[in-house]
Amino acid sequence: MSARILVVDDIEANRRLLQAKLEAQYHSVILACNGPDALEKARTTDPEIILLDVMMPGMDGYEVCRRLKADPLTAHIPVVMVTALSDTEDRVRGLDAGAEDFLTKPVDDFLLTSRINTLMRYNAVTSELRQREASGLKTGAMEDSAQEDVEGPARVFLIDDNPRTSARIATLLREDGHKVMTLLESGNMGDLAKERTDVLLVSLLSKSFDPLKLCAHFKTNDVTRAVSILLICDPLERAKAVKGLEIGASDMIMAPVDTQELLARVRTQTRRTRYVEILRERVDRGLELSVIDQLTGLYNRRYMTSQLQQYMHRAVMGGKPLSVMMLDIDHFKPINDTHGHQAGDEVLQELADRLRHNIRPMDVACRPGGEEFLVILPETPEELACAAAERVRKAIAADPFNVLSETRQIAVTVSAGVSSLLGPNDTMAELLNRADTALYQAKSAGRNRVKSLAA
Ligand code: GH3
Ligand code: MG
Ligand code: MG
Repeated sequence: MSARILVVDDIEANRRLLQAKLEAQYHSVILACNGPDALEKARTTDPEIILLDVMMPGMDGYEVCRRLKADPLTAHIPVVMVTALSDTEDRVRGLDAGAEDFLTKPVDDFLLTSRINTLMRYNAVTSELRQREASGLKTGAMEDSAQEDVEGPARVFLIDDNPRTSARIATLLREDGHKVMTLLESGNMGDLAKERTDVLLVSLLSKSFDPLKLCAHFKTNDVTRAVSILLICDPLERAKAVKGLEIGASDMIMAPVDTQELLARVRTQTRRTRYVEILRERVDRGLELSVIDQLTGLYNRRYMTSQLQQYMHRAVMGGKPLSVMMLDIDHFKPINDTHGHQAGDEVLQELADRLRHNIRPMDVACRPGGEEFLVILPETPEELACAAAERVRKAIAADPFNVLSETRQIAVTVSAGVSSLLGPNDTMAELLNRADTALYQAKSAGRNRVKSLAA
């Protein structure tokens, strides 16, 4: 997954080095050379992560961080402090300023990559939440109580078979106000289910059980699946750490564990777990309504445009193709007129079902409105998208629709227009416009067919 990252450093060589490392991983990089420049770009370029140098003339990194966190426009963007020294003093000050993470110069490639991935995962959850807030759905607004809850002391489950390190880490966390359960073996997990757990802290240095197997178990178990896993890693066994992150751990910390780093990571992971929980509760309460079309269960127009924007960005960054298919029911008005509006609604529902069953899991099916449908086809070139549209068209035309309110079956066909992303300068409006033009051509050519402007 590629991210848009703002790199802030007063020394050009440092900026260039980080830029090269990040671009090699397909991230897009925005550069800022001092505090005010960073604040300005954080507001205007919509970065997903900020790498912030601490030592800068004028406004230092702590001050920049404090201001970012005080501004509602930028407060949600995770800030990684990049410090020259792995000085505890620095870290405490960074934490106080509201930073989410730390990296020490010279920046280690492996740590850089894993930190960015961690924050991307964290962002995926929080951005979903913010999107819901922004939808204007009053009931979805994050209540102040929920916000407080997110910041409260954590309940940590520590699994480490070394009694000495286990006791030390537990003490550090308790001194910071957290509630800690320790387990020296992978046996009795019964306590886990008793109370809400925020973070599973698993030592990969444990020898008496397989900690990776345990992580996999946590990720497949209903009770623990949504809980963040923080790994304690042996710096000499990075492959194991990578494996853990692949299995689904959210973050890692190197042994011997640094106090401030531990507290910072526990705090970030606790927030993440609680955000996920809030999200899930809202979904349970039916608040996902803001992105789902009620009649068909497909995504609505608002969700479609926000997703399409992101898919376009990712396609450009990753150099992959992206296509859309736009479908419109042929002569739907007469169907409504003959059989009634209720029957028309049922046709729309059945059509949505057939659509869903004839696309890939990665495709995003939407009903932007009326009798129009749109499918986003990631990583799909135009020819394949046309073939996919043809498959959908056939699935709809093949058998007439059964409608409960009618004894007669209703023959339904659709016309489709396909278009593909042309490059970094292409816009969503133009992409949709080309699909619309192709759809119009399909209608003019006699309906029940697929067109693209290329074909
Ligand atoms: P064409 O082949 O050119 O697309 O013809 P058409 O009749 O499908 O196109 P037109 O745009 O003239 O009519 C669309 C109809 O779709 C009109 C409207 O009543 C109906 N419609 C739109 N939304 C809904 C809905 O939610 N439920 C029902 N039952 N009908 C709807
Ligand atoms: Mg129409
Ligand atoms: Mg129509």
